[in-house]
Amino acid sequence: MGAPPVTNVLEKARQILSKKSLAVPAAILALVIAAAIFLAPRYLAQPVAEITYSEFTRELGQKKVQKVLIESGGLSVSLADRNVFVRIPNGLVSADYIERITASGAEVDFKKPGFDPAHMASIVVPIVLVLAVLAMLAIQTDFKPTSRWPKVVRSIPNRFDDVAGQEEAKAELQEVISFLKDSDAFTRVGARIPRGLLMVGPPGTGKTLIAKALAGEAGVSFMVVSGSDFSAPLIGIAKGRVSKLFEQARKKAPCLIFIDEIDAIGRKRGGGGSAADREFEATLNQLLVEMDGFNTTAGVIVIGATNRVDVLDPALLRPGRFDRQVHIGLPDISGREAILNVHARNVKLAHGVSLASIAKGTPGFSGADLGNLLNEAAIFAAREGVTEVTREHLEAARNKIIMGLERRSLVITDEERRLVAVHEAGHALCATLLPASDQVHSATIIPHGQALGLVMRLPEHDRFCIPVEKLEADLIVAMGGRAAEEVVFGPKKVTTGAASDIAHATNIVTKMVTEWGMSPAIGMVRVARSGDNLPREVEQEIRRIIDEMYEAAKVCIEDNRDALDALTEALLEHETIEGDEVRRIVHMQQARLAA
Ligand code: ADP
Ligand code: ZN
Repeated sequence: MGAPPVTNVLEKARQILSKKSLAVPAAILALVIAAAIFLAPRYLAQPVAEITYSEFTRELGQKKVQKVLIESGGLSVSLADRNVFVRIPNGLVSADYIERITASGAEVDFKKPGFDPAHMASIVVPIVLVLAVLAMLAIQTDFKPTSRWPKVVRSIPNRFDDVAGQEEAKAELQEVISFLKDSDAFTRVGARIPRGLLMVGPPGTGKTLIAKALAGEAGVSFMVVSGSDFSAPLIGIAKGRVSKLFEQARKKAPCLIFIDEIDAIGRKRGGGGSAADREFEATLNQLLVEMDGFNTTAGVIVIGATNRVDVLDPALLRPGRFDRQVHIGLPDISGREAILNVHARNVKLAHGVSLASIAKGTPGFSGADLGNLLNEAAIFAAREGVTEVTREHLEAARNKIIMGLERRSLVITDEERRLVAVHEAGHALCATLLPASDQVHSATIIPHGQALGLVMRLPEHDRFCIPVEKLEADLIVAMGGRAAEEVVFGPKKVTTGAASDIAHATNIVTKMVTEWGMSPAIGMVRVARSGDNLPREVEQEIRRIIDEMYEAAKVCIEDNRDALDALTEALLEHETIEGDEVRRIVHMQQARLAA
């Protein structure tokens, strides 16, 4: 069966509408036609001559009147040779008068009530006009951003120097700069050129700023759009905008496209059947098509920013699309000080104000929050009528922003901070002491996504054959966080912070027992689940192994309590410590123990 004709018409209309240049003339044309249809009867109707009342009486007397039609405004009179009209302003004709007309031999009738084109037009035309104007306004507002969209900036003043901290991200992006500067050098040696990369991190951490600085460093055009630009009310517009964006980019190449909040356009396709779902999928598909379509030599790179990679459609992350990720995290203490220094360029600080101590008191603040802090402090100073920003102003501003942040539940109390530090120190200590574990890359108490802290280990890539020795080391490291909490604060003070550690450990142990034949009690069999349940003895075996690993972690921590405390203090002071520093601290304490 073919598509119903109405769909074809709608599709045609949609195509016309999505061509911006045609939309406005089309709307005007439609308006004119509508007006013509409704106004036509009034002007096209045969004009009828009017005669005076006296003339009519005379005609009546001479019995020349053949027929009289009584209407509201007067009489339509048929004479032998013509039709005329007699106006009778008050409308009604008296019964006597009708009698007189009849007596003259004319036929009398009343006009049928019903369709009066002129009358209808006077009601309908204004309505149509109002609707048409509204429709045009709607179309106009929808296209207004489009006509100047996307905004292209030719020469960006920002440089990497304007971005404080974020050294790793800047280093990773160096390659992109060299590509944008000279893509030929890359293509000549047959290197695969990046087309898209994702900047992943919480809001306000400088993703837009870094992308701008990147374009500035490379000296290329910069286009900034937001994922929300692609949710338009009319069908087909969002998809059209994606095409337009890339068309512009190719014209302005070399060029960097920055799509903020890319999750708004790139979230996982749900496959729902509603018009909105289809529209969403069409837009995302268009983005995929455009990314695949552009020639790698075109000198166009797309940067998407998001805080949630996990909600993105996997198709977006495939090779040749957004296949690289640069993580932009909340700044650590030295990063915060650097950002404060950048923003303090425009603020007059009182003598002796220490931005380092402000940095210390602002864990969890993003770059934007810190910029905001200095701005608020300057406002406090201005309100007091003083010309310099003092420590009191800065602290008042900090407290004001913390109140805002607490609603976002980002800022943690000192007590929580110490808890997180002990927990992460526990992971880091176990990882350092167990030779079979991967080396610690860094440990931090800066929130990352859902986690309040993090110990990163290298290598992070998947290994295919993992010896049981390493699995056990990983389990002890996973248990190390909670074990440290218990050793330091006592069993009643342990927190919910170990939830993901527990999930991770349970997952591994379950596989060890049910898939990998690593439990002597269960043996070399694959254990099938019945529904959600495992056989009882398997559950018991999983529990036994986890308990054993937890005990091992506790012993490890109790025996090296000094090292744990030293790591905790280092984390509280610096927030992030590198793997080498972790190892230096642990080995120093061990040497002291041995002496
Ligand atoms: P995002 O795109 O990650 O939400 P933005 O790039 O819009 O964040 O950052 C907002 C503002 O915060 C910037 O304009 C800048 O003033 C400030 N900012 C954020 N990070 C930094 C940084 N690392 N160095 C200097 N300023 C920063
Ligand atoms: Zn943990």
